[in-house]
Amino acid sequence: MTSLEAKARSLRSAFNFTIIYTIMSFTWLISGQVVKENIEAAGKVGTLSWTHMHIINILLSSIFIFIMIYVVLKRFNTDQTIIKNYLNELKIKSATIEKAGRSIRLQRELIENVLESADILIVRIDKEFNITKISDNIEVISSFKSEEVKGKNLNQFINSQYIEEIKENIKEKEKYKLELQLDTKYGEKIYMHATIKKNKSSDNSIIDYSLVLCDISERKLLQQKVTYLDSYDPITSLPNRNLLEKAFNSLLPTLEKSGNPVALLYIDIDDFAYINETLGHHAGDHLLMDMANKLKLATKGTDILARITQDKFVVIFTDEKSLDSIEERVNKILKDTKMSWQYEEEKYMISSTIGVSLYPDDSLEFISLLKNANIALECAKESSRTSYQYYCKENNCEAINEHTMLSNIKLALENKDFQMYYQPIINLKTGKIENIESLIRWFHPEKGYIPPDQFIPIAEKSGIIDQIGEYALEEVFSQKKKWNDSGFYLEKVSINISAVNFSRAEFSIYIKEKLQRHGLKGEEIVLELTETSFSTHKSKMKENIEEIRSFGVEIAMDDFGTGYSSLARLKELQIDYLKLDRLFIVALIEEDGQEVIKSLISLANALGKKVVAEGIETEEQFSILKKLGCAFGQGYFLARPMPAMDLISS
Ligand code: C2E
Ligand code: CA
Ligand code: CA
Repeated sequence: MTSLEAKARSLRSAFNFTIIYTIMSFTWLISGQVVKENIEAAGKVGTLSWTHMHIINILLSSIFIFIMIYVVLKRFNTDQTIIKNYLNELKIKSATIEKAGRSIRLQRELIENVLESADILIVRIDKEFNITKISDNIEVISSFKSEEVKGKNLNQFINSQYIEEIKENIKEKEKYKLELQLDTKYGEKIYMHATIKKNKSSDNSIIDYSLVLCDISERKLLQQKVTYLDSYDPITSLPNRNLLEKAFNSLLPTLEKSGNPVALLYIDIDDFAYINETLGHHAGDHLLMDMANKLKLATKGTDILARITQDKFVVIFTDEKSLDSIEERVNKILKDTKMSWQYEEEKYMISSTIGVSLYPDDSLEFISLLKNANIALECAKESSRTSYQYYCKENNCEAINEHTMLSNIKLALENKDFQMYYQPIINLKTGKIENIESLIRWFHPEKGYIPPDQFIPIAEKSGIIDQIGEYALEEVFSQKKKWNDSGFYLEKVSINISAVNFSRAEFSIYIKEKLQRHGLKGEEIVLELTETSFSTHKSKMKENIEEIRSFGVEIAMDDFGTGYSSLARLKELQIDYLKLDRLFIVALIEEDGQEVIKSLISLANALGKKVVAEGIETEEQFSILKKLGCAFGQGYFLARPMPAMDLISS
């Protein structure tokens, strides 16, 4: 009940009381008179005296006053209860208000804390976007003092592109939200989430704007990190498999148009697991970083470089014009990534192996190009003879594929990885070295020894055998000259020549010039040709043989017994030596075998051909051959093939 209501109520009660009192007074007067008259009329009592009247009046007044007092007291009691209740109500209310006040204070503190800790800036800007008010934490957020900011236009702190965006959008809307960057005093940019709101007057006209800016740089950083990890490898900072695939696919239309071959190189660090396990993951990570740096240096702008799993990197050449240039670059990458790697005090030799797949030949799709390059890599790893391998559909890991072998041969020629070995051919009667057969040796820097049987046939197919022939002839001719000059007397040297070389038009002239240039006589040289080449390369070879023999050079038929030369043909063939294949020699322990050799020797002798037994491995073979009248012999029992230096000392 309000005080006004209480006053009204009291007035109302007083007024009621007065009315009742007045009515009662009149009633008393009238009733007094009536009672007097009635009593007098009844004649019961004569005339009532005024004393009697007063007694009656006093009685009536007492009753009336009693009633009044009762009424008033009752009313007073009721009011007191109401006031009591009212006071209680007030107490409860004030307690609630106090509680609410406390909670509001708390909430305000909380909001202030939140504002501060969440780096929320509250800015008020006028219709021209000039800053009129700004929250105090501006200094914490941007290093600007609030005085430096107040009065300035918002575009001094926020890029105009955002301002334009806000202006454009707030026209229509009451509120607009966007993400923007706030410039700090020291030129940094902070990502902020902004909400701009119109402040309006009662007539709905715009007074100004409120701008609430919330620092979201941490979220942005995290977002950027997530995006980064989705595309980049955190150890090497190189693109990862995802990005590699995207980059390749986005380049596909251009690659298709260019028509150039594209190579995908799957690169694996040799023995990485060993480093990782023995030196620890920290060392492994270091090696990966170093390898990534080497690869960055070994690649060019048009290549795509990525690390796709543990120690596997991928390089895609997108701008090579030919397979030859791809080849060259694969070799260069192998060379450039070969390093002496130091970790703590120790040094380790690091090399890598590469599997190559080609677009469009091996596949048109990234996934299968990657898979094929991986297969090629596995083959290269299994093979002990190569550091890289091209994918080929029939890839089997036992045989190194021809393409790979060929590129390895080219590299070996360039790097001078070939060497000539010499195996003495002994006069079995006298025991003297009469001849020496030169045999090519290939020591691959990583894969070790690669036997000629594995690369000569591939070299013959591709034509690179010309360069191998040139190398062997040049090397042996100059070696023979050196021996001659040093007084190491050797009647002859034998050189294995491929039928491919021998069938070249100018081969005889080439040999003649070489002899002249090195100052050698034809008689000092024997050229060995396999039996099969006599039947496959006929006419030109025949001409060349004739001419070459005319310079005094002798011709040997190698591996006799492996081809199908009829004995009758031997007579026509212009050969000086018949080299019996090792298989005949192995068969010597059997009587039949001895018979065959015996008749071959006598036939050859009859035809004027000298017989050389190849592959004498035991003393028994040696003495049987001697007994059978075989003129010459070579084999491990007599001497193994060896470098020129060792030959002099033995
Ligand atoms: P080839 O001309 O029949 O050479 C003889 C092979 O028998 C050599 O193998 C030699 O190392 C091996 N040999 C020698 N004595 C023994 C022995 O007692 N037991 C056994 N099991 N083997 C013995 P290599 O050096 O592996 O040569 C293989 C073939 O490669 C040669 O057979 C030859 O056809 C070819 N070749 C070698 N060097 C050249 C070269 O410079 N040019 C060309 N075109 N071919 C070459
Ligand atoms: Ca030979
Ligand atoms: Ca042979």
